[in-house]
Parts: sequence; structure tokens; C-alpha cells
Amino acid sequence: MSRQRERQSTEGQQHFRSSRRVEKLCHPPSDGSLATEMASECGDRCTLINIGQSFEGREMKVIKITSNSSTGNKSAVFVEGGAHAREWISPVFVNNLIYKLIIEYGVDSSVTLMLDNYDWYILPLVNPDGYQYSHDSERYWRKNRATTIFRDCVGVDLNRNFPSFGMSDPVYSKHPCEDTYGGPFPGSEPETKNLVKFLLGVDKLHVFLSFHSYSKMILIPWSHKMKPTTHHSALKTAGMAAANAMEAANGGKWVVGLAGELLSYNAAGTSLDWAYANTEAKFVFTFEMPPSRSPPGFVLPESSIKSVVDTTWPGVTTLIKTIINTPALEDKYFVSKGSSKGKDMCYCEIIFMLLFTFCYI
Ligand SMILES: [Zn+2]
Repeated sequence: MSRQRERQSTEGQQHFRSSRRVEKLCHPPSDGSLATEMASECGDRCTLINIGQSFEGREMKVIKITSNSSTGNKSAVFVEGGAHAREWISPVFVNNLIYKLIIEYGVDSSVTLMLDNYDWYILPLVNPDGYQYSHDSERYWRKNRATTIFRDCVGVDLNRNFPSFGMSDPVYSKHPCEDTYGGPFPGSEPETKNLVKFLLGVDKLHVFLSFHSYSKMILIPWSHKMKPTTHHSALKTAGMAAANAMEAANGGKWVVGLAGELLSYNAAGTSLDWAYANTEAKFVFTFEMPPSRSPPGFVLPESSIKSVVDTTWPGVTTLIKTIINTPALEDKYFVSKGSSKGKDMCYCEIIFMLLFTFCYI
């Protein structure tokens, strides 16, 4: 690194590490202003992309972070946080991820590797309305703040609203008063629509990461049924590498597997399943961040925030390094962009074709 670059980096770090910045990183506001500030201070490596508004009109801002080198041929990583309002550690971690990618490029070898290999698109707060409501009124609020057919029952669970498989399954709620209400129809919510539209426009999306809490699990698809995907082995291997790295960093034991295996329930309409089925990304993971149990559950003590961020970080760097070293996953069952059909349909079609051929030859 040149001396001038070194000085710029140091000045940047001092600025970023002001007490006000640390406070905002631990308590990110719902208006997206933290990502806006960081993007404006990061120079031409960062671009802020407004992907639309939430139900209550808050802007949803994706920050794109690149390296200094040409970005023409790079694949992309997408990271989302804050889909569930009460899981405050999720947007905290994702904002810290943005911060590290901005200030530690050219300083930390892992960050440099991650940015030299990928362009990063990061949305720290998928559900800004619910997040604000969780701060103002109900700490354990989960859904967005959309009105429903019942005046007294507000909100849709955004992580049950993606137009993926299993929306007809009984594993997401059709009742507006329940916490896992999947909405009047798949993809009904403005937050989901904005994200789906944006992700379908990202070229060469290779990795999709979603951050939730709690339980110290790394979930891999499928989540709507207890059945592995064709890429299960590669996903499990990469997930285990991340889990081992977090344990080595004193983050305790993490487990890796299907939602149905680890949580004892399947979940339909998740961003995880949707991303796997409808985008080029086959390396898709949901981190259920610490703690492992309740209490403290969703209400992590202030004193734990730093250690959770610090011990989760090696999981992300190790995961990305493992993916970089894994050959591209075959995508023979990929469904065209925008289609709500899935791989099950492809399997059926293949079986039908085989039967048809067998019967008529
Ligand atoms: Zn969640």
C-alpha cells in the first residue's frame, strides 16, 4: 500500500471511529441515514441505490461497495438485514459489515480479498417501518406495518411473503393476526416487491446472505420443506467452515442445516428459498445470530453487541473465502428470472419427459 493510501486509510478510520459513529453502528436509525453517511464518506467505491419505499414511505437504500480495481467482470454478493423488526442485532451487524468493507479495504487482507472478488450490495434494513415501531411501541414486533383486512391486526411477515415455493403449504400463516402472516398473496408487500425487483436486476449474483436472530444457526435451503437442494453438500461444507471459524473466535457453537431440521418447523415464502430458486445465487445462507436461547433472545444486552459482531465477522469472512475456493455450482435447474416456478416443477417436467420418451420408443 502506498504511503498516501496508508495516510488516507488512517484518516478515514479515525473519522469513522468517532463516538457518534460507534453509537450509530450500535443503534442504527430506521431512516437509512447511516448507510447514506457511510456511502458519502466512502468516495467512488460506494454507490447508494434507492430501491423503493416501505409501506409507510421510508426509503429502502442498498449500498453498493466495490474495490478500487475494475468491477466489470465481478460476481456479486447481496446481504440483507432487519427483515424481522425485533431482531435488532441483525441491522447492527450488517451496518458494521458495511463499515468494515469501507474502511478496511487495503488494510485487512480478508476484506481486500472479499472486495477484489465480489461487488457487494447491502440492504441493512428490509423492514424499516417495523423496526421503528419496535423501538417506539412494541419491542417484540416482528412484521411490517401494512394494514390488513382486520383493522386490529397489522403487518405481514416479510420473510414469509417472498414468491417462492410452498405458499400453499400450511407452514406460513394465512391469518393476519398471527406473527407469521404471509400476506394476502405472495410478494404482496412493497418491501418484498422492491427487493425482488432489485435482486432480479443484479448481474451475476453469486452469494445471498440474510441475517436474523436468534439461535446461532446457519440455515440453508430448502426452508419450506425438509428436503435438501441439489447443492446441499457444497452449502453445508461452506456453512460448516463459517461455523467452525465463529467457534474458534469464541463465538460458541453454531449449527448448520435445513430450517426444518434445526428449528423443528418449515418456513415458506422466505427470502432464502426465493433467492435460491429465482436468482443465479446458489450460495444462499441465513445466519440466525446470537444468542442461542431466550433469555436474552431478541433483547441482547448492550454489553454483548461488540462481542457478537466481532465473533460473527470471522464466520462471514471464512464463508466468502470458502466460496471463492469452491468451483461454481452447476445451475442446471435454474428457473428463468422472474418466474415463480421452482425446481420441483423442473423435476416433474424431467420425469414426465422421461416417461413420455420411454412409452413411445
Ligand atoms: Zn428473523
